[in-house]
Amino acid sequence: MGGETIFAKIIRREVPAKIVYETDHVLAFHDVNPQAPIHILIIPKEPIRDLASAKADHKELLGELLVAVNEIAREQGLLQDGFRVVINNGARAGQTVFHLHLHLMGGRSFAWPPG
Ligand code: AMP
Repeated sequence: MGGETIFAKIIRREVPAKIVYETDHVLAFHDVNPQAPIHILIIPKEPIRDLASAKADHKELLGELLVAVNEIAREQGLLQDGFRVVINNGARAGQTVFHLHLHLMGGRSFAWPPG
């Protein structure tokens, strides 16, 4: 249910994005409305609606997403300074695009709790 999202169009290159990382299963690109000096979205190419929809079969893919975060954080020079990784699951948690994505943010300090 719900049809495809803008991220499916980005994967197919029908909508432009500043892509920084790609493998067979994972794509990463700059967030169009950045909340930090560096704000990158890491997504599976498979259109999983949200984290809660991921199954045990997705174990390897979920691992690949975190490995991608790590590589991108290194490429973006964030390892020394620190960075934040966020998954919003569901509208109440702030999810607006229903294609699983990890937010990688860095280049500033972050409050805790996030609010
Ligand atoms: P969330 O609120 O966790 O679902 O995050 C969705 C994110 O996607 C937001 O930070 C948006 O700014 C971002 N976003 C929406 N459309 C695009 C787009 N076309 N290119 C890049 N980022 C986008």
